[in-house]
Amino acid sequence: MPQNSTVPKILIVGGGYAGFYTAWKLEKHLRKGEADVTMVDPLPYMTYQPFLPEVAAGSIEARHSVVAHRRHLKRTNVITAKVTNINHAQKVATITPPVGDSYEFAYDQIVVTAGAVSRTFPIPGIADNAIGLKTIEEAVAIRDKVMSNFDKAASLPAGPERDRLLSVVVVGGGFAGIEVFAELRSLASSLVGKYPQLSFEDTHFHLIEAMGRIMPEVSLKTSEWVLKDLAKRGANVHLDTQVTGAIDGNVELSTGEVIPTDVIVWTAGVMANPTVVRGGDLPVEERGRIQTRADLRVGTPRSSSKAPGRPVTSRLSPTSRVVASAASACRTPSTPFVRRNSSRRTSWPSSVARTPRSTSTRTSAPSRVSACTTASSSPARSPSRASSPGSRTAATTVSRCRRGSASSASSGAGGTTCGSVATW
Ligand SMILES: Cc1cc2nc3c(=O)[nH]c(=O)nc-3n(C[C@H](O)[C@H](O)[C@H](O)COP(=O)(O)OP(=O)(O)OC[C@H]3O[C@@H](n4cnc5c(N)ncnc54)[C@H](O)[C@@H]3O)c2cc1C
Repeated sequence: MPQNSTVPKILIVGGGYAGFYTAWKLEKHLRKGEADVTMVDPLPYMTYQPFLPEVAAGSIEARHSVVAHRRHLKRTNVITAKVTNINHAQKVATITPPVGDSYEFAYDQIVVTAGAVSRTFPIPGIADNAIGLKTIEEAVAIRDKVMSNFDKAASLPAGPERDRLLSVVVVGGGFAGIEVFAELRSLASSLVGKYPQLSFEDTHFHLIEAMGRIMPEVSLKTSEWVLKDLAKRGANVHLDTQVTGAIDGNVELSTGEVIPTDVIVWTAGVMANPTVVRGGDLPVEERGRIQTRADLRVGTPRSSSKAPGRPVTSRLSPTSRVVASAASACRTPSTPFVRRNSSRRTSWPSSVARTPRSTSTRTSAPSRVSACTTASSSPARSPSRASSPGSRTAATTVSRCRRGSASSASSGAGGTTCGSVATW
């Protein structure tokens, strides 16, 4: 995409839900030649994460949960790379492509939407043996593992190894955990019908939740109804219980119980993407999230006559107005691309209600309106964990990930296939 040096340059960091929609809306709102929009993401597609539980259970195909950037963004300069540093004082970002040297990219406005990563704790074996649920590759890995374990179990006599292969442990009783748990339970129930050697009673499903209830976002009554429904479906939910280890094919619990299993799904929360957040000079709070105003912009309003945090769109320069429309795009709740791409509209487990995407409402920061972020990590759940810019912490260890083309069918590009909790 040719760049015009005389027009403002807008850089979008991340082409996930918020980044993709920001670019798409800017293409609609901007007049020709009004601004150059560049979007940088290591993946060539946007992942619609709410469909990942259905992908893990095989109720929809992986390609129906991803949207190829280049297919839909016609006027955006799409760069498949990582942003590894943001020097907002100089308005320069460092872009690191998968091959070749890093380079600097000067911008006028930046939209930071690098998302969240799976949050893990230094629990022995989790980073190596558990599979997260943040990427399409992880969802496909879960499905593949469950299905191949049924194949293996069908040729074994009843006994401990067969039980282990037919046991699934999901860690985390939030939305993602409950959804994938319910979906996998349904998958297993339908699979047993295809294997005369196996019965419903041979399958074992365990959900581990550290708190005394599941899904804190919904009412207690609703969450208890979900627990009853899961119990009817033969699922075991361990409340007030923590995983203390995941070694040698066993999940160890704080209650002393040991669950032999070959499938551990890790959905115990998310944290702010450390690569982007800590690799720059944007204001970051103690939990590693970018501090923004209520309108998701970094900076303070120009006019003191306005209420604190209230956008002063009418007084903004043309360039800043662009950011205002980007900020509004960040909050757009529609999903037309995924609906169009999806062969079938899926409904979530009836027991699971959807909630609006969480946004940070913190107000602070030093300078004028200049950057828009989306706070995609769960504010209540992100840990405070230090990390050097661009480094992987224990919480974000990527192990046994390999490049592949497994599931990015509609994008036509390779993704990363993972056998463990993964992040960027
Ligand atoms: C299983 C599951 C179910 C969910 N269900 C719901 C739901 O029902 N309702 C709801 O509102 N929300 C739901 N969510 C949450 C929702 O999907 C997220 O809030 C949303 O995806 C956040 O969008 P985002 O653009 O901030 O981040 P993401 O969509 O995660 O996008 C981040 C992008 O940044 C890219 N990136 C990462 N690092 C870099 C870097 N260094 N440089 C450049 N790019 C980078 C990533 O590749 C990714 O494409 C669910 C999430 C999950 C995991």
